Amino acid sequence: MRFNPVDIGVRVEVLNDVLKEIVEDYQCWDPKFHITTSQYDDHARTFCVCPYGFVVKDFYEKEIFGVNGHSMKDKKSNNCNFALLIRTRLTKPLENTTEYGRSIAKQTNTLGGGKPIIQRIGDLRMNRRSRWSRIRKSYVNPTLKDVTPGDLSMAYPYRIVTDILEALEKLEKVIPGVGSDSTLLYAPEIKFYSMRVETNKTLQTIVPNIFVAGDGAGISRGITIAAATGIIAADGIKNLIK
Ligand SMILES: Cc1cc2nc3c(=O)[nH]c(=O)nc-3n(C[C@H](O)[C@H](O)[C@H](O)COP(=O)(O)OP(=O)(O)OC[C@H]3O[C@@H](n4cnc5c(N)ncnc54)[C@H](O)[C@@H]3O)c2cc1C
Repeated sequence: MRFNPVDIGVRVEVLNDVLKEIVEDYQCWDPKFHITTSQYDDHARTFCVCPYGFVVKDFYEKEIFGVNGHSMKDKKSNNCNFALLIRTRLTKPLENTTEYGRSIAKQTNTLGGGKPIIQRIGDLRMNRRSRWSRIRKSYVNPTLKDVTPGDLSMAYPYRIVTDILEALEKLEKVIPGVGSDSTLLYAPEIKFYSMRVETNKTLQTIVPNIFVAGDGAGISRGITIAAATGIIAADGIKNLIK
């Protein structure tokens, strides 16, 4: 087995109108944009788009938490939120991406005084901490209130903050409004993944006749690809017993 990359990023919250064209007019419920950042050539992606949704606190472990998002059937907000994640791969001497992600989450939790951090993009760009007085001036009214206005650049590595700002600038070209100064960022949002089991192309492991698929084997990191890997493994098994 080997370590998978960890995804470190933020939950982005904008007005519903900003994503309405993509989500409703193009009927793309969970649009996933993949972006290559300019300065570091890193991979950023959008994930878990929650139209009319709410940002929520999400415990990763007993004492380490981050944020997540959801949409509800009967209760709607004026906002749409989504994760913006930077794929972070590590090599020797610290291949353990889980440990790295955990330490960033812990540091962000400490800085937020036991609450997630919230910051307006405008404040992040101007290198200043957000305050409630500034957030109240924003067009976007946060759906998660139990947060601490803070400064992402005090919590996250420079590289990740640069990637986030660049990715939002690039997204702004496709989704006008997403990179507005009023847009809210919540942190930490970290996606930890299982270690990846070594397999061949049909997902057979080095143990003969044992196949793996899905997130548990570290092969996928989302609903669609998890399903697709099931089909690949099933094809592999079918070919084996032919
Ligand atoms: C809060 C949250 C939000 C998410 N949002 C999104 C999203 O917006 N978009 C997206 O693409 N993906 C999202 N995902 C990820 C997505 O849910 C997973 O990628 C996907 O479900 C993985 O599918 P899977 O079949 O590999 O594993 P799972 O769906 O986890 O299925 C594994 C199954 O195995 C069962 N199981 C476990 N142990 C045993 C055992 N010993 N014996 C028998 N059965 C067992 C479990 O009960 C479970 O039913 C989200 C995940 C979470 C937790």
